Amino acid sequence: MTIPEAAFSTQWTPQDLPREVDVAIIGGGLMGCACAYYLSKAGAKVLVLEKSTLAGQQSSRAWGFVRQQSRDEAEVPLMQASIGIWRSLERELQTDLGWRNDGCLFVAGNEAERDGYESWLTVARSFSVDTVMLSPREVANKLPGYAVPQLGGLFTASDGQAEPTLVARAFAMRARELGAHIVEHCGAKGIDVAAGQVVGVETERGYVKAKTVVCAAGVTTFRLLKLLGIALPQQLVRGTVARTTSGPTLSGISTIANGVGFRQRLDGSFNIADDAHVDVDMTLGHLRALHWYAPSLWAHRKSFRFNLNGACLTDLHQRLPWSESSRLGAGIHQRNPFTPPNDKGLGTAMRALKAAFPGQVNTQIADRWAGGIDVLPDGIPVIDAQTSPRGLAVATGFCGHGFAMGPIVGKTLADWIDSGDPGLDMHQLRLSRFAEGDVKPPSSLF
Ligand SMILES: Cc1cc2nc3c(=O)[nH]c(=O)nc-3n(C[C@H](O)[C@H](O)[C@H](O)COP(=O)(O)OP(=O)(O)OC[C@H]3O[C@@H](n4cnc5c(N)ncnc54)[C@H](O)[C@@H]3O)c2cc1C
Repeated sequence: MTIPEAAFSTQWTPQDLPREVDVAIIGGGLMGCACAYYLSKAGAKVLVLEKSTLAGQQSSRAWGFVRQQSRDEAEVPLMQASIGIWRSLERELQTDLGWRNDGCLFVAGNEAERDGYESWLTVARSFSVDTVMLSPREVANKLPGYAVPQLGGLFTASDGQAEPTLVARAFAMRARELGAHIVEHCGAKGIDVAAGQVVGVETERGYVKAKTVVCAAGVTTFRLLKLLGIALPQQLVRGTVARTTSGPTLSGISTIANGVGFRQRLDGSFNIADDAHVDVDMTLGHLRALHWYAPSLWAHRKSFRFNLNGACLTDLHQRLPWSESSRLGAGIHQRNPFTPPNDKGLGTAMRALKAAFPGQVNTQIADRWAGGIDVLPDGIPVIDAQTSPRGLAVATGFCGHGFAMGPIVGKTLADWIDSGDPGLDMHQLRLSRFAEGDVKPPSSLF
């Protein structure tokens, strides 16, 4: 598997860690890198700890959709603010991010889909998002040559797309220029707390004092929180994506149609994925927190492919005393989890795209990869910098749609840590909702 342009060169890594920082960030994904940038800009002394390579996990493996439409209401104000940042982000970070502000379109292939998409218009109106329902003719105008019968589509002109392999890295580069210490191949083993206050972080290269620790460790976050006695019902699913060779220009719109999600870059290549399914590779770990998911699993069952495969054996092996996980410690778990792409699903997606644009899409799959997606039972993330213990901030559980939110998550956390005010109402995304049992059913689990 190749993750194009994903990794930072390790020569960037300072060998010695600072002894003390204002904020230590665990996880060098998009959330960690964006937060590091905005905190550094505000003058904080920041350390980013990445157990592997920067943006080596979800943040470089996303489809690249940047959308407000069809989101849970709790995320919409954040996404509106995020779109505002995306529009000028290439200028702010002084680099190409593959940003295209050409909209997002979900095409309805049947009445149930159309009704589902239409129902989101109520949310759009209440937040003044520019989402509209297009007629079949209007969809045909947006997607010339689209040959599958359709009943219109949900369209948001202000949505867009960007290149996941570039964005976290760009934030990290600029944060580093502003003085942030960014360290790859150095995991955080645990967060140190004294008298209810975060006081530091234990790393693979020693101890670093910090009164604030941001835990943005993707699918490993629940493990770090468990060491603090905090139960987060986070789970893992697997999504697969392919990049194709270049084809003729179809559209710059991030589109879901005929069961395939696709976006076309300016060079003509597409990112494509099977929109209808993600894989759940069953492990003993899936029994943990099952009661949180059981009520919605049945309703969303068609979206999941449940597999009993090598992941189960790997999970059993990782529980043995001589395993990598035992050696690295519970907070790091695995350095580079193996995530194989689902080729069958990709074949289906490719056929669906070709059938949708007959004679137009003569491209081949040039590269493919998969990523472990961190989900939470209510389908919305935890973004919280005012929790217990004091000084702990958490950004995790983005349920397969956090790439679009990355810039605003980084900025919101930085503002919250720096000034005590996140600038937006973050109540619905608080960490304590699980302990309080204040968890609503998900509109979508990924
Ligand atoms: C296949 C796929 C398609 C997607 N498509 C989209 C899309 O089109 N649009 C969208 O908005 N979102 C999409 N997403 C979701 C999006 O990519 C994620 O929500 C987002 O990247 C999450 O960023 P993160 O920083 O929280 O996590 P990650 O990118 O996973 O970063 C977490 C980092 O923490 C590190 N880490 C873990 N434990 C430790 C430790 N103990 N010490 C140090 N470091 C540690 C990991 O190595 C990792 O690099 C997709 C995701 C996938 C997998």
